[in-house]
Amino acid sequence: MSGAVAHLVCDCDGVLLDSEAAAQRALQIQLAARLPPGVDAAAVIQPRLGMTLEALLADIAGQHPLPLTPDEIARIRRAVDAEVASRLRAVPGVAAALRAIPLPKAVASNSAGARVRAALRRTGLWPLFQGRVHCADEVGAAKPAPDVYLAACRSLRAAPDHCLALEDSVTGVTAARAAGLRVLGFAGAGHIAAGHAERLLAAGAGQVFDDMRRLPELVRRLQARPF
Ligand SMILES: [Mg+2]
Repeated sequence: MSGAVAHLVCDCDGVLLDSEAAAQRALQIQLAARLPPGVDAAAVIQPRLGMTLEALLADIAGQHPLPLTPDEIARIRRAVDAEVASRLRAVPGVAAALRAIPLPKAVASNSAGARVRAALRRTGLWPLFQGRVHCADEVGAAKPAPDVYLAACRSLRAAPDHCLALEDSVTGVTAARAAGLRVLGFAGAGHIAAGHAERLLAAGAGQVFDDMRRLPELVRRLQARPF
């Protein structure tokens, strides 16, 4: 029997920041220039969403001829970061939704800590988390490993089964479930493709929603009747 939901742990990209569409677009351009003709860059990215850029590139290079030197990875990283920074915005409605939920909150992200903190400050979301921002480059293994979620639960001084994760990727849902959290899947950011909600449910999300304005009510209902 799971405990009552008393804490919220949010993924960053695709949940707090509507950054995934810009990141995917930039990455697609970078990969299309490097993959052999006939390999669809968008199709190789899609199943790997939510991975760190380095893990995603290594995974693709394991299946396709992709020249990957440290310099090449750094060039791709700079192109993606520049595109994301130029289009930075919060997911519509997320700030108001989080303010309306009277629970302690933390962030668990696969992105680099420095970039996440800067982006949360620029979009005005930083004060909602009171410094509880945990990123894979600072805590251990990246998602789908459970490390960032476990770090977030520790900073909240909460047992994982009292925490609710908000996630937009299969990689992230897998990480949160491995850490023992329940998961609400979010399929409302700009990058979501058809069938995504079903994939999040299959990975272990208890429920999927697509409009942040619904979040406070969903959390209240979950507190009354946990899935
Ligand atoms: Mg995400």
